[in-house]
Amino acid sequence: MSKNTFNLFPNFLENNETKRRIAIDIQNGTLFHSIMLVGNDGVGKKFFAYQIAAALSCEKKHSDDYPLPCGECASCKKILGGNSLDVVFFDREEQGSFGVDKVRELRDDAVVTSNELDFKVYILDDFHLMTAQAQNAALKILEEPPKNVYFILLCKDVQNVLETVLSRVIQFEIRPLTEGSVRRFLSENYNNELLKNQQKLEEILKFSRGCLGTAIEATVSDSEKYNELIEEYKLPEKMFSLISNRSQKLQMIDVINGLPKDRLTLASFFSDMECAARDIIAYKNSPETSLKYYISRDSVMQAAMSLPVRKVYMIVELSGDTRDQCLRNTNIQLLKDKYVSGIIKAINS
Ligand SMILES: [Zn+2]
Repeated sequence: MSKNTFNLFPNFLENNETKRRIAIDIQNGTLFHSIMLVGNDGVGKKFFAYQIAAALSCEKKHSDDYPLPCGECASCKKILGGNSLDVVFFDREEQGSFGVDKVRELRDDAVVTSNELDFKVYILDDFHLMTAQAQNAALKILEEPPKNVYFILLCKDVQNVLETVLSRVIQFEIRPLTEGSVRRFLSENYNNELLKNQQKLEEILKFSRGCLGTAIEATVSDSEKYNELIEEYKLPEKMFSLISNRSQKLQMIDVINGLPKDRLTLASFFSDMECAARDIIAYKNSPETSLKYYISRDSVMQAAMSLPVRKVYMIVELSGDTRDQCLRNTNIQLLKDKYVSGIIKAINS
C-alpha cells in the first residue's frame, strides 16, 4: 500500500511533503477530523480541499496503479465536479461576515447523517474572517465533531484565528509554486492572446507570486480587469519612479494612502518595495542580473541611475521593518505615515 509520490494529488502541484503526509493519513484511515490549510489567496487551498475530500472516498485509494485521488471513479467524479451532497462548501456571503448564525447552520447540518458517502466533509472558506464569537461557537464541534465528519478550514492569516481554535486543528501550510511550475502550467493549459504576448506573460508570472489561482485569474481576465491587477502590482515601481524625482512628495503620499488597509495586502506591498530596492542595487552591481520584482529593465535602470546605493539601502531596511510591523497588530494609518516620512528622510539624507 504505497503509491508512488508522483501519484499523490498529481493535480495539485508541488507541496510534496504536505501531500505525502495527508495521503498517508487518508490511506491509513487516520486523517485528523479538523485540519486547516493555510496560505495566500489564489494558492489553491479550495482546490486542494476538494482533492482531499475526493481522496477520502476514492474507490482506488488503496491501489498502487492509480493516482490518489484517481479522478475516474464515480465518487471522485462526483466530488471533484462539486456535485456531492456530502462535501459542503461554507463561505461567508458576499461582503458579509462569517458570524455565529453561520456556525449554527453548520452545527445543525453536521449532525445529519451523510447521503451517499461514508462521511461528510465541510470546507470552511476564509476562516480568518470568522468573528471571534463565531470561532468560539465553532470550538466544540471542531474538537469533537459528529462521527464521520471532517472539517477542512481554509485560512489566509492565522493571526486572526483564536489560539483555542488553532490548538484543536492540524495546520498545513500551502506554499506558492516556483515560477517555472506556473509557466509550465499556463503554457500547457491555456492558449490565449494574452500569453502569446511575452511581456504580459512575464507580468503574470511576476505578479502572481507563485499563486496559480491568481495567475489563472489574470490569464482569463478581460483587459480592464487585467490592467487593474497589474497596476496594483506595479505600485512599488511607481513609488521608485516618484522617489527618483524627489519633488513628488504629495504623489507618494497619495500612493501610500491609497493602499488597502488589509494587513496582508499591505505587507506584500512593503515586501515588494524591499524586493524592488534590492533589484535596483543588484542592477547597479550588474545590469545583466535577473530581477525578482521588476518586469521592465528600463524602469529599473532609471531608478538605478538616479538613486545612490546608500539611499536605496535605507529603503530596503525601512521597507523590511515596516512589513514586519505591519504583520503585527500596529495602527495601520500610523504605519503608513511613518513609512512616507522614512522615505522622505532617505531621499534627503
Ligand atoms: Zn477515485
